[in-house]
Amino acid sequence: MQPNVTVVDHPLVQHKLSLMRRKETPTAEFRQLARETSLLLAYEVTRDLPMTEKDIETPITKMRAPTLAGKKLCLISILRAGNGILEGMLDLMPSARVGHVGLYRDPETLRPVQYYFKVPGGLDERVVIVVDPMLATGNSAVAAVQLIKDAGARTIKFVCLLSAPEGIATFGAAHPDVPIITAAIDECLNDHGYIVPGLGDAGDRIYGTK
Ligand code: URA
Repeated sequence: MQPNVTVVDHPLVQHKLSLMRRKETPTAEFRQLARETSLLLAYEVTRDLPMTEKDIETPITKMRAPTLAGKKLCLISILRAGNGILEGMLDLMPSARVGHVGLYRDPETLRPVQYYFKVPGGLDERVVIVVDPMLATGNSAVAAVQLIKDAGARTIKFVCLLSAPEGIATFGAAHPDVPIITAAIDECLNDHGYIVPGLGDAGDRIYGTK
């Protein structure tokens, strides 16, 4: 089965992404661009949220007004770079519930190991949006989404800024039910697992740790 991937090719998203890719873009600007781009991705990933109608009164008359249905949606950040995406999403969805998943790569087995996991209750009744800027090998995204499924989530979407074909294939094979929303699909991974042409280490660029 083909992975379910949406590339958000909106001109503002593409322009901001190009600015982020440039190696001379400073930390503050990168962080702001990540926030703005995430807000635009949030708009795209929420376009099919379930709706209902409520009775309201405008200054003129009564009406049935469309509103979001069901429990507040949940954003889950894969630490630490996911937090750079979370901010922009929360700008658009300030009432969303928020979870965090921390994973590190075991140096011997190279498998992702959980070091932090905190998510809101009632995941089975929420739309869950998992965020991580880079879908590279896909290993940590696969593991994080499995933990989130094990915690009860049934409706999950995955949002990233950049993805590699390898990561899309790995993620799609493990979680064919989870759509991927990305601003671009790049060429490949290099020998160090970085996306090419990419934008470098997203966490370092967001937090200025290099
Ligand atoms: N993680 C990053 O931050 N950058 C990449 O290119 C791949 C994984």
